[in-house]
Amino acid sequence: MGPSESFSHVTPGASRGASHSEPRRLSRIHSLRVSVTDRCNFRCLYCMPSKGVAWLPHEELLSLEELYENVEWIAHRTDLQRVRLTGGEPLVRRGIHHLIARLTALPDMPEVSLTTNGAMLAHQVWALKAAGVSRVNISLDTMNPQRFTTLTRGGHLWHTLSGINEAIRAGLTPVKLNAVLQRTSWQEDVPRLLDYAAMQNVEIRFIELMRTGTERSWCASELVTVDVVQAWLARRAGIYPMPVRASSPSANTIVRWYGHDLSVGWITPRSQPFCKDCDRLRIDACGRVRRCLMDPATFNLPGIRSLGEKQAELAFFDYLAEKHAPRGMEIDKGMCQIGG
Ligand code: SAM
Ligand code: SF4
Repeated sequence: MGPSESFSHVTPGASRGASHSEPRRLSRIHSLRVSVTDRCNFRCLYCMPSKGVAWLPHEELLSLEELYENVEWIAHRTDLQRVRLTGGEPLVRRGIHHLIARLTALPDMPEVSLTTNGAMLAHQVWALKAAGVSRVNISLDTMNPQRFTTLTRGGHLWHTLSGINEAIRAGLTPVKLNAVLQRTSWQEDVPRLLDYAAMQNVEIRFIELMRTGTERSWCASELVTVDVVQAWLARRAGIYPMPVRASSPSANTIVRWYGHDLSVGWITPRSQPFCKDCDRLRIDACGRVRRCLMDPATFNLPGIRSLGEKQAELAFFDYLAEKHAPRGMEIDKGMCQIGG
C-alpha cells in the first residue's frame, strides 16, 4: 500500500443516511476502533509475546479505500458517533490521512481520533490535523529513558515526547496519555508521569494490564490493580471522583498533585470490568469485526458482504446479538493483532 492510495472509487451517494432504502440500525453501538495495520515500530512487552506474533498476510490486508467502505457500511447500520484509528501503530500505515479525511466527512460523525505510540507523530501531526483528526491518545508508560527502550523493545522516549509536544502545539486536544500499570515499576513511573502530565497540562489514564498474547505467568506477576495505586496516591495527594461518563471505559478523578489539579482516568478491565455499558466494536485491517476485545469469534465483513448485502446485514445483527461480557480479560492474540 503506497502513499498514493486514494478513495476515488467510493460510490457517491452511498454515505450514511443518504439511501432511499435505509437499512436497520443498531442503536447501542456508538464507537468503532479501526485497526489500520497490525504492524508496529515498537514491540511492547505487554502487547506481544517475546517470540513475536504472526503478522497478517499482506494479501489479506484491505486497502484504505476498502477499509473505508467497510467502516461506512457499519456506520450505516449502527449509531456510530466516534471512530478511533489504532493498530498496531496507525502512523506506520502510509496515506492514513486520506482515510481520516473520508471518515470525518461521514454524516453525523462528530469524532475521528487516533491512538498512537507517538514516535512518528511529530512529522505527521499537521497532515493529521488538516485531515480532520479531533484529538489523539498517546501511549506513555514511563519517563525513564532506559526503561522506555526496554519496555518497547527498542523505542526512544524522546521521539514520543516530541510527538506529544507537537500534538499539543497543533491543538489535537484534549491530548490524553495512556499508561499501562506494571507491578515492578509503577511506584517509580506513576509519580514521574503525573509530574509530566501536570507540566504539559494533559489528562493521563492508567490502565490495568490484560493478558494479550503474553506469557500468563509474566502477566500475572506484573498485574497491579488500580485500587492499590489509588490508595498509595491518596496517602500523598488528594483524589476526588469526577462525574461518571456513560459508556466511558475510564472512571475519572481529580488528583491534586503538588498544586496542580490533574484529570486522571482509571481503566479497570481486571478489577472492575466495564462491559455492561459497552457500546464499542472493532474492525481489523482485514475487515474482521470483533464485538469484544476478548472474544475470539470474529465476523468477516468483506467475505460475508460478498454473499449479498441483505444476507450480510442479517448475519451482522445476529453476530452482534451475541455481544456479551467475556469470561476473563485474557486472549492469546497480541493487542496489536486485535486493535487496541
Ligand atoms: N500503537 C498504538 C499505541 O501504542 O498507542 C495503538 C495500538 S495499542 C495496541 C493501543 C493501546 O493498547 C495502548 O494504549 C496500549 O498501551 C494498550 N495496550 C496494549 N496491550 C495492552 C495490555 N496487554 N493491557 C492493557 N493495555 C494494553
Ligand atoms: Fe505497538 Fe502500541 Fe503494541 Fe506498543 S502497544 S507494540 S506501540 S501496538
